[in-house]
Amino acid sequence: MAEKIIMMAEQRGAAPVVPAVLETPTGLLSDRLARPLHDLRISVTDRCNFRCVYCMPKAVFNNDYQYLPHTALLSFEEITRIAQLFIAHGVEKIRLTGGEPLLRKNIEKLIAMLAELKTASGKPLDLTLTTNASLLARKAQSLKDAGLRRVTVSLDALDNTVFQRMNDVDFAVDDVLKGIDVANQVGLGPIKINMVVKGGMNDQEIVPMARHFRGSPYILRFIEYMDVGASNGWKMDEVIPSAEVIRRISAEMPLEPVAANYTGETAARWRYADGSGEVGVISSVSQAFCADCTRARLSTEGKLYTCLFATSGHDLRALLREGRSDAEISTALAHLWRARGDRYSELRTSQTEVLRRGANKVEMSYIGG
Ligand code: SF4
Repeated sequence: MAEKIIMMAEQRGAAPVVPAVLETPTGLLSDRLARPLHDLRISVTDRCNFRCVYCMPKAVFNNDYQYLPHTALLSFEEITRIAQLFIAHGVEKIRLTGGEPLLRKNIEKLIAMLAELKTASGKPLDLTLTTNASLLARKAQSLKDAGLRRVTVSLDALDNTVFQRMNDVDFAVDDVLKGIDVANQVGLGPIKINMVVKGGMNDQEIVPMARHFRGSPYILRFIEYMDVGASNGWKMDEVIPSAEVIRRISAEMPLEPVAANYTGETAARWRYADGSGEVGVISSVSQAFCADCTRARLSTEGKLYTCLFATSGHDLRALLREGRSDAEISTALAHLWRARGDRYSELRTSQTEVLRRGANKVEMSYIGG
């Protein structure tokens, strides 16, 4: 049965109910599985200049695709207001995503507004951004000046042919590597490099990528290919489990496991036994990490998604634009998070086909990875 492709504008999601009794945030808000709200990923655009096969395949995201009109996007003021409400409930880290966030005009202005915000305990916000680095060399300094702390860069191969097969545009690896180096020079590190591994497409690049970034200031992470959205044609037999990734690298460059930096860290850490750096693996398919998932996602047009694999969101923009107070929106937010019980990756593992068939999951390019 062909999967139904859902145009962005059709993404469902009703405005949440505003409870009658309003509450004051305490800086600590946990869901039904006792997971605290700690990270917010904000998608600032549904557009991208790449067409990565695992995220925005060209066959779907083609010239006829209806992207969101600008009026549908949250304004910088609306994003900042919602971010403040999340922070009051305990968010300490905000990651800007997309699509490709650097395509959003004047993104530096938004970063400067968010960089002003302090966590509930008065600390600076950990403000980061994930990019395909196509514009990074040109923008790194202005992003840093605006208050951005770090960047994560997506790079799926070193070989240009393989890279272009993965992103389906003719963008050169060297330009991505240049963007990474410029970002490092201006102080947007430690920089993480994310490689999505799709079996039969770029897995032959695992060891060359490890060799290239070993001994560098950059932390390379390998992401298992995921059944995000409803358009990438995901198959379990195209997933290279992280254990196999580690086995391949270790065969040449021995690795040993390292403890997580903090609870909820998505990547499992491994370091080279000779001390020449570390790599990470993000294993949503083979080693689900839902038990520690502290991430909320805000879509480009202001819908809250409580899981990357959700099938519907909660329209916070409606509350904003109908003139609701901060206390009303904040209380609605608290009730939504408290009711959260998502653990798709754990369920997927045991019931993959049943779950996937017919599940119109939100597209990753709409809510960020
Ligand atoms: S599948 Fe959903 S709940 Fe599980 S780790 Fe990913 S986003 Fe979190």
